[in-house]
Parts: sequence; structure tokens; C-alpha cells
Amino acid sequence: MSSYCFFCDEPLAAFDPGDPSGEVRLAFDPHLGRLWQVCPRCTRWNPVPLEERWETLEACERLATRRGRILVEGEHLTLLAAGGTQLIRVGEALRLEFSDWRYSRRLDPHLPGGPGLLTRMILDLPESPAGGVTFHGVPRFPDLAWIVSPFQEHARLLTALLLHAPLADACPSCGAPLAVEPAAFGGVRLIREGAGPRLVATCAFCGVASAVPLREGRAVLRAALAVVGRSHRDPEEIAGAATLLDGAGGAEPFIDELGRSELTLDVMDTDERIALAIGLDEEAETEALEAEWREAEELAAIMDDELTEVPGFEEFRARVLEGGQSFPDDADASPGTRP
Ligand SMILES: [Zn+2]
Ligand SMILES: [Zn+2]
Repeated sequence: MSSYCFFCDEPLAAFDPGDPSGEVRLAFDPHLGRLWQVCPRCTRWNPVPLEERWETLEACERLATRRGRILVEGEHLTLLAAGGTQLIRVGEALRLEFSDWRYSRRLDPHLPGGPGLLTRMILDLPESPAGGVTFHGVPRFPDLAWIVSPFQEHARLLTALLLHAPLADACPSCGAPLAVEPAAFGGVRLIREGAGPRLVATCAFCGVASAVPLREGRAVLRAALAVVGRSHRDPEEIAGAATLLDGAGGAEPFIDELGRSELTLDVMDTDERIALAIGLDEEAETEALEAEWREAEELAAIMDDELTEVPGFEEFRARVLEGGQSFPDDADASPGTRP
């Protein structure tokens, strides 16, 4: 089990459904066999890769039915408390209800210990400095690329993420890892081409806009969309996004439609971006279920990874942290790292 929130790096307490004394909030779906640990700070649902999936879920179900005190009851989801542990039991809910519980601020007042000041700050305030910090922790003046980015308030977290993992293992144009300059994340777009949706991003190594199958870049895109979407948690906003997905006939047709519009992430409407994030979570988690939840949950896989150490990636990281947004046509490009 991972011990840090994938989205904000908060340590996640270990849990044992047989001993509900710890202050944790879990969400579980006894029908499909899914389990998430809810971060006490940013409230995002972290998929829990389980060795003993069904045993753990059975223990959750036992705890919920025998000792659970209902705090909030929805049509198909229930928030229960047993000791310090909170359980969100997911029934066979429709997208609208499930999304509301998972992505909106509706359950915040029931957080163990209440919605602390820290939670409200993390969720509602910009995490300045917008320019990020240097390798030595000194705030940096935001460079031009960030100033024009609508995601500048997320600069620090986006930088941390995109320096942790490239969008895809290899840029189709130069073969280096498809690293995305953090300030250029808003320029990533979906297109519809050939067999399915593809992601187009400008490679930080060769400067060429390259397309990779969405499936390849999905994990990093999901994580990045969670970062830039973290302040959009109004129940109406989430309902609007879920309605877009419903209107399109589901995640796949919605993402298809979005790909046809070829909009970059920074010019999509907020509700389209939230819907994309929800749709990608849905697709990934469905695939993980069809395979083996523990092996296939891609966020969990990145979460467990050490920093990506592929040739060239370390130089990219150093360049972004120390030198700002230089591109490889600048003097400090590292052609030696290309294959
Ligand atoms: Zn978190
Ligand atoms: Zn490239």
C-alpha cells in the first residue's frame, strides 16, 4: 500500500479494517472490488493497490454493516463512521452521484477532525510562489511561460509532477522520454487520429510537437488534471461535468468528441476539463478492474515508482529547476542525450 497521497504528498495513515481505531477515510466498492484511501489533506481518492483485495473489502463491509454509524446517506453511497475510521460505501451509483461524492466538497464538513484550516488552504488558495522555487528552495520570479499560463497558481505541483514522470516513455520524433516543460502543460491537446484519441505535446528535448496514444500519457495527464482541478469542487461544477459525460454517452465518446475539437487544455472550458479528468479516471479504473486492480491501476504504479531515471531525463529536470524554460534550441541543449 502506498503511504503518501499521490496528489499532494501528504502521508497516508496505515489502516486495518479489523481495527478501526486509526483516523482514516476509505472509500470502497464491494460490488466491483475497488478501494481508495481518501487523503485527509486534499480529499482526493487514492487507489489502493491490494494484495488481498477481496479479504480487505470483506473486512470493510463487515465493519460498515456491524459497527458503522451513518453520517451521510445518499441514494447509492453512504458515509459511515466506525471508531476513527470513516467508510464511504459505494453502491451501484450513477455517474452524477458518484462524481459528486468523489470530486465535490460535499463531504468536507465530515472529515475526521472537521475541515481543518490546512485543508481549506490547500484546496482554496493558490500555492504560490507561481515561479516555483529553485533547487535550493528559493522562490523564483515566474518566467514568461508561467505568467501566460492559466495554470500558474499550480506551478509548484505541476513542476514536481512533470519532473517526476514524462508524458510517455519515448518521443516519436527524437526517442528521448517525452518530457513536458511544466509551464507548457496548458498547450497539451487531444486529437482524434486513426485508432483513437492521441495526446499532442511539445517534446522538451527536440521541441517538436509529437502525438502519442492517449493511453500512454493517461496516468500523467490524470495526475496533472487532478492538480489543476483541485480548486474546482463546487457540487454544481462537478454535476455540470458529469452531465457533459452523460450527454455524450459516456467517457469514451466524450473524450472522442473533445479530441475532434483539438482544443489545448488551457483553452478548454473548466467543466470540459473536469469532465475529461473524471472520464479518464473512469476509463483507467475500469481497465484496471478488467485486468487486476493491484497491477493495473496506473496512478498507483507511478506512485510507487522512484523518479524516472532514463537517459536524458535528469538533465531535463536540472534544466527546469535551475535554468527556467529553455528549449533545446538554446545553448544548453543536450544533444548528447539523444539516441
Ligand atoms: Zn492529498
Ligand atoms: Zn523529442
